[in-house]
Amino acid sequence: MLETICEVLQDAYKRNWITSRDGNVSIRHHDRDHFYITPSGVRKQTLQPDQFKKISIHGLLWQEDRYTDISANLKPSGEIPLHFGLQRAMGQHSNDVRVVVHVHPTYCIAAMHAGIDLSTISDAFPELNRYTRVAPNVGDVPPISQELADQCFDMLQLDGRGNIAYDIVGIKGHGVVAIDTSPWRAYEHIERLEHICKIVLASGKY
Ligand SMILES: [Zn+2]
Repeated sequence: MLETICEVLQDAYKRNWITSRDGNVSIRHHDRDHFYITPSGVRKQTLQPDQFKKISIHGLLWQEDRYTDISANLKPSGEIPLHFGLQRAMGQHSNDVRVVVHVHPTYCIAAMHAGIDLSTISDAFPELNRYTRVAPNVGDVPPISQELADQCFDMLQLDGRGNIAYDIVGIKGHGVVAIDTSPWRAYEHIERLEHICKIVLASGKY
């Protein structure tokens, strides 16, 4: 699935959802005490599976594990507090993988900038709410911070058993975080929300 994550990020780049070095993705198999995360500062158009970082979960702490020679010289994404918190807590009780995707889709960010809470628009659009549960926005928080991670956990309603109430959350002035059991499934939550945000902004009624 690391190859699929590379494809997802290439597609996100083509859609202008990220600039070259933006965006980050992590993946964990439910029964393993480690996950893989995209490296920091690497051009996502040319990202390769052997550049991913392998991260071990030790209780409340994480540490880098040896993966490949190439990845040994790279750092994990700066958004690791977000990915670690979600990957540590989620997926313990289901027989599947968890993928966390963070990108900067244009119309989602524009809608939040215009004062729209993304959770409020899904009621009017069944093609969105049938498949994607949208959390209330996270407000202005610094990127690559524990505060960003904590507020995303709160808005997604991450509980003590590793369940979340939503599939996607918007971060005002920044981007979105989507979660599902494969890279493309997580990506589709973003695609659906982005499409509806474009429609809402085109309508001028908000
Ligand atoms: Zn970001």
